[in-house]
Amino acid sequence: MTSAPTGENQSICRTDNIDDIIQAMTLNEKVAMLSGSGFYLLHTQHDAWGASPYPAGGGCERLGIPPLQFSDGPRGIIVGRSTCFPCSIARGATFDRVLERKVGEAMGIEARANGCNIIASVCVNVLRHPAWGRAQETYGEDSYHLGEMGKALTEGIQHHNVIATVKHFALNSIENSRFKVDVKVDDRTLYEVYLPQFKKIIDAGCKSVMSAYNKVNGVYCGHNTRLLTEILRDEWGFDGFVHSDWVLGVYSPHAITAGLDIENPEPAWFGDRLVNEVESGVISETIVDRSVRRILQTYFSVVEAADPLTAYPSHLVACDAHRKLALEVAEKSAVLLKNDNLLPLQKAHTNKLAVFGSLADMENTGDQGSSRVNPPYVVSPLAGLEEYLGKDHVIFGGDESDITNVESVASGADAAVVVVGYTALDEGEYIPDDINLGQTQLPESLAKILDEGKSRRQGLSAGGDRQHLGLAPQQVELIQRVSAANPKTIVVVVAGSAVIIDEWIAAPSAILQTFYAGMEGGRALANLLFGEKSPSGKLPFSVAANPSDYPHFDSKADSIDYGYWHGYSLLDREKKTAAFPFGFGLSYTQFSYRNLSATLNGSTSISVAVEVCNTGRYAADEVVQLYISAPGLAAERPHKILRGFERITLQPGESVYATFHLNAEALAWFDAGSHSWKVEAGPYKIMVGSSSREAEHYSVTVEIESPLSVGG
Ligand code: BGC
Repeated sequence: MTSAPTGENQSICRTDNIDDIIQAMTLNEKVAMLSGSGFYLLHTQHDAWGASPYPAGGGCERLGIPPLQFSDGPRGIIVGRSTCFPCSIARGATFDRVLERKVGEAMGIEARANGCNIIASVCVNVLRHPAWGRAQETYGEDSYHLGEMGKALTEGIQHHNVIATVKHFALNSIENSRFKVDVKVDDRTLYEVYLPQFKKIIDAGCKSVMSAYNKVNGVYCGHNTRLLTEILRDEWGFDGFVHSDWVLGVYSPHAITAGLDIENPEPAWFGDRLVNEVESGVISETIVDRSVRRILQTYFSVVEAADPLTAYPSHLVACDAHRKLALEVAEKSAVLLKNDNLLPLQKAHTNKLAVFGSLADMENTGDQGSSRVNPPYVVSPLAGLEEYLGKDHVIFGGDESDITNVESVASGADAAVVVVGYTALDEGEYIPDDINLGQTQLPESLAKILDEGKSRRQGLSAGGDRQHLGLAPQQVELIQRVSAANPKTIVVVVAGSAVIIDEWIAAPSAILQTFYAGMEGGRALANLLFGEKSPSGKLPFSVAANPSDYPHFDSKADSIDYGYWHGYSLLDREKKTAAFPFGFGLSYTQFSYRNLSATLNGSTSISVAVEVCNTGRYAADEVVQLYISAPGLAAERPHKILRGFERITLQPGESVYATFHLNAEALAWFDAGSHSWKVEAGPYKIMVGSSSREAEHYSVTVEIESPLSVGG
């Protein structure tokens, strides 16, 4: 073992002398930087994840380098009484990059005010199937849309000198078997469907990547040289660091050679075992230095950079501006699925509103695992409606556990609202009781972690992948009975992804999906139902007509093949009509599209413009969506694929042009044989509209004359 050099000097810690710092460190100090520490101590002391920032690696006390201070997660900072934003899938439904960047900034500010300098908030795994228990933590099914939203969040977070972690790299979209499942994928599918969003976010400057628990093509992601080194660093030029997912993300010290820099949460393998491997010459010390260098470079370039604010005091946590932002996001994310001339309700004509369902007065902000935020308050749907109308005008009519009196309450009201859907018991993060899943030869330290970590896992064995895609029969009956008693019934669906609603869709006059709408969700609901704001969210996933229209999903899978097709590309290919297509969402107003034009600039760059007019009576936002259809001669291409979206605000009678720019990457497909992106010659159909289905009816075609390679 190397001993500490004498003449230590705290002032050597600067970004321009990382070599000197590494030179000054002992092997033990270097290795100590490469793992988190104190995970179960934290739990024994506080029994709660998120009670304080977690020291997740980095740091060298002797040299005055502070550790990384970690927090989850996707819907807000889990440390402190932070703002709970609508979950990521809700924010995906806003299709609003500007708003998502603001959410990122708010998270960055609250991270700083809570003493954190790294946050694992950017979850961009592809929603391949709606049963995935953590669907709510990602933005949706489409990798272009995932990349745009994740990039905006990342830029917002890092603007405040907080390191953004993008996760879970890669192909992590089954929860229950996440610790063992081997996801098989071919190269074209990998590059075109499952990785583009990660690349976009890395290109935007994201400095930290969390490896996933699962295997990809037979190799655990934390050990996957192909993913962590060849693709991430050699091809994409990533210069930040990679840290593991939490427990069972690393299986030997050799993960460092594959490209993993930090083992979390504890040094099960990157502690003494790594020191031994280096001292016995099995792993070169230069590999350790490489990881230390990546951490220091990131630390100095992000955390120690000049701040945009003069200070980050604690009163910025859940401050008024962030609460208002949470409200705005909730208003912009709800998706109106049905409206038979009922909404918006008139406040003046609503003397009595009856509200039903066990979720109506629940603080139901979603997953209770690693992404749980502990906000200062949550406005439930019932509380929001009471606040808006006044308590005397709202009556709670009971829930699905006892529906004997619901008709009499419903029929005596001017309108009825039924809140249905899921909670963290139905979908969310999941840790199996038998967490080691048959892994043998666990090191003593890891066995201890697993054993002592039981306190954290308590309660987490609920949730997981969804068992069904519809509603519980009692909720369906509640909807049917209330709707039969009062034709002015609105159903509010709370869920982390698609819910199959065909069984009861005809019963109510209106249906609004709010997802998990965060701490201001109830207020947003009242504003939407009463027309203070028009709904403008669009589904960031397809709702199939039948569960069998989705790709194969097995929450117990040891191995699964992720084929090229899922979501709307699969439905199109199989000629199945979605119950609600990707990008769908109604408004209180109407929009018309005209004057679509597409101009070829040079050989492959296309400028597109379309005029959108608000022809209705309400001011509202529209999400203009652009899809392309490529010739697909060399390889089968999706019938259509999203390549642009713009959210615009229009007053009644107002019209604006939405413009898009498509570069060669937007048109290309990945040729695995030559390992390069190619644009083929031929006709490209450019489709524009207010949903993926509407876009099919409004298109223009552009001819690309000669093929082009876009690079490796
Ligand atoms: C989750 C990650 C999370 C980490 C730390 C893991 O179990 O998969 O998403 O960031 O825990 O809480």
